[in-house]
Amino acid sequence: MANLTAPPRIDLQDLQLDDARALLKHDARNSEQEAGESPTDYLQRVIDGLCELSLKDPLTGLGNRRHFCSVLERSIESVARSGESVLLLLLDIDHFKSINDKHGHMAGDQVLQAVASCLAHCVRPMDTVARYGGEEFAIILPNCRPLFGRAVAERIRQTVASLSIPVAPLQNIQTTISIGGAYAPEWVRSTADLWIERADLQLYRAKSNGRDQIRLEQPQELSVSAEEKGLLFGNLDMNEMVALEAASGDTPPNAADKATNRVNA
Ligand code: GH3
Ligand code: MG
Ligand code: MG
Repeated sequence: MANLTAPPRIDLQDLQLDDARALLKHDARNSEQEAGESPTDYLQRVIDGLCELSLKDPLTGLGNRRHFCSVLERSIESVARSGESVLLLLLDIDHFKSINDKHGHMAGDQVLQAVASCLAHCVRPMDTVARYGGEEFAIILPNCRPLFGRAVAERIRQTVASLSIPVAPLQNIQTTISIGGAYAPEWVRSTADLWIERADLQLYRAKSNGRDQIRLEQPQELSVSAEEKGLLFGNLDMNEMVALEAASGDTPPNAADKATNRVNA
C-alpha cells in the first residue's frame, strides 16, 4: 500500500549550522545555501563537505590517518574474500627534524607538501596515499602482485630523492625517504594493526640499515603460475625480467616452473 504521509519538511532555521558553515568556508567552499537549492539538498551538501573534511589532512590535502585506517580495514575484507594481493607501504622522511632545525618549521611544511604531492603523482588512481603522522606517509596498493611491489616502491623512493624543493628564493632542499612494506596475507583474516606492525618493522629495518632505501617483507606465498608469468612478462626482455625477479626474491620461470602450477616463494 502506498505511503501517503508526506515526509517531514526540513527548516534550516531549526538547525545550528554556524560551526559547519565556518569550517566549510575556511576550506574555501561555498558554505551558504544557493538560490533555488532546496533545504534537503543544501543539508546534504553540508554533510558531504564535513565528511570530506574529516578525512583530509589540511596541510598536504592527502587523506588523513582516519581515512587510511578505514581503507585498510576495507582492504582486509576484500583480501579475505578474493585473495587479491594488497601491498601496504609506510614511508618516513629521513632526518626531517634537521630540516626543521636548519631551515625552519615553514620550510619543513613545504617539504611535507612537496613530498605528499610527489607521492600522489607516483601512484595509480586506485591506490590510497595518506599522511599517517608528522613526517610519515602510508600507501595502500590494491591488486599489486609481489613481483611489482618492489619496483613500485623503488620508483617512489627514487622520485622523492630526485625532488628539488624550493623553500626560499634561491634555496632548494633535497630529501630522502625510507620505505617499509608488507602484503596482506592472502585468504587469511588479519587485523589492520598487525598489518601496520609488519610494515613498520620493515621501515625500522630500512632506517637502521642506513635510510634512503626500501625493505619489503617477503610474501608468504606467491600465487603466480609460470603460465601467468609468461603472459605478464611477454613484452619484457629476458634481462629486465631476471632483474625484476631477482629484486623480488622470486625465481625466474624455467622449464621446471612450466610443469608446476603453483610457485612457492
Ligand atoms: P628519522 O630519519 O629517524 O626518521 O629522523 P627524523 O628526524 O625524520 O625523525 P624524528 O621523529 O626525530 O623527527 C620528526 C620531526 O618531524 C619532529 C617534528 O617536530 C617534525 N614534524 C612533525 N609534524 C610536522 C609538521 O606538520 N610540520 C613540520 N614542519 N614538522 C613536523
Ligand atoms: Mg617518523
Ligand atoms: Mg623521519
